Amino acid sequence: MRGVVFDFFGTLTDPAVESQRKQAFTATAEVLGVPAERFWAAMAGSFPRRIVGAYGSTRETLLAIARECGAKPDEEQLDRAVATHRSGAERLRTPRPEALAVLDHLRTQNYRLGLLSDCSSELCEAWPDTVYAARIDAPVFSWKEGHRKPDPRLYATAAARLGVPVSECWFVGDGGSREHDGARRAGMRPVLVTNAAYPGANLLRDDPDSYLPEHRIDDLGELIRLLGPSHDNG
Ligand SMILES: [Mg+2]
Repeated sequence: MRGVVFDFFGTLTDPAVESQRKQAFTATAEVLGVPAERFWAAMAGSFPRRIVGAYGSTRETLLAIARECGAKPDEEQLDRAVATHRSGAERLRTPRPEALAVLDHLRTQNYRLGLLSDCSSELCEAWPDTVYAARIDAPVFSWKEGHRKPDPRLYATAAARLGVPVSECWFVGDGGSREHDGARRAGMRPVLVTNAAYPGANLLRDDPDSYLPEHRIDDLGELIRLLGPSHDNG
């Protein structure tokens, strides 16, 4: 096995911060002059289309969502809403405590590291400035590709960008979006991060996976042992 493809939210990010998403959206709604509950519902309802890029950039998305909610923000308001929304998104991508050390370790082991995220515009726009960017050889974003998990094209793209056959790639994720079944069908070897220490984090999981991978770890730090030289790779 020469490649490792990671899910992003709840896998590389701290599962504990996911509970702050509503609070972050509320701050954006306030700047846009939209009731928080209405904004939350519009963001949730538009999620499947936002993550395949149908709403465009963060600025275009916030304008469209505000209009859906009956508001007409001016340019200055929109500027502030984008800034507020981006800083909220930044908090939501806080790395989990062991994430950067795991990535750094795997790089020393000569693994090629990829990312496969069902995400909206915020992550894609901010990616080069994140702490993850220098550690990931090839990111694949649903927003940019126009497909979401478990679409097999995403896994094929991730492997191709790493220059590693899918059969030599691990896929590591916390579940949701049927990502492990997608990985298995694409020919990758799936690993579930159960996040057992974060009860409640999985309650927000979208489109849960009915397929349970053979390889399961409770926390990301255990990945090093699973992939380590003592493992038989079977
Ligand atoms: Mg996830």
